[in-house]
Amino acid sequence: MRKLIEKKLVVATHNAGKLEEISALLAPYGIEATSAGELGLAEPEETEDSFVGNARIKAHFAAKETGLPALADDSGIEIDALDGAPGVYTADWAETPNGRDFVMAMTKTHEKLEAVNAPYPRTGRFCCTLVLAWPDGHDEIFPGVMPGQLVWPMRGEQGHGYDPIFQPNGYDITFGEMDRWEKNKISHRADAFAKFVTVFNG
Ligand code: IMP
Repeated sequence: MRKLIEKKLVVATHNAGKLEEISALLAPYGIEATSAGELGLAEPEETEDSFVGNARIKAHFAAKETGLPALADDSGIEIDALDGAPGVYTADWAETPNGRDFVMAMTKTHEKLEAVNAPYPRTGRFCCTLVLAWPDGHDEIFPGVMPGQLVWPMRGEQGHGYDPIFQPNGYDITFGEMDRWEKNKISHRADAFAKFVTVFNG
């Protein structure tokens, strides 16, 4: 695996929350992170049908534009009884003319599971793929996953997105009922980041 020697990288996101989370992770390594949003880069279209494909588009675009290594992530939930949907379209299921509505997206998810009479447990997983790309076109890929089951009704007020209907394996509470600290130790994102930080070693 290629190591990250430079102390500067671009986080290929326009999402302030993601930048904050990633910057906090990078701080102990003395890495200075700026974001594609701060640099005024365009947002490339996510035209691939996989997490890794879309993360690669974002990372390579930012690396080429800035001449710096760039880190991108793409995430979502895959549900077995729905043939892996919503997958890369997880955010799209929440889109409305007035912004994202995750209660609507979770309700839609439940209705689709009912429509196919999905057996219990209704298994699925949250996925997060991180891609680190260099301006010369090289990249390294760090996939993360958290398996669990889809539950209904929604439970818990914490977290974001689909957290209230996702119960991770080994727990009897949903991500929505779990405190942030606990979730961030076990989540798909934590899994991917644990692999990613090895780029700083040796
Ligand atoms: P994106 O990678 O920012 O495009 O996010 C993809 C979608 O997956 C968004 O709709 C998120 O709400 C959802 N998602 C990703 N990770 C999580 C999570 O940890 N909890 C709940 N929803 C998530």
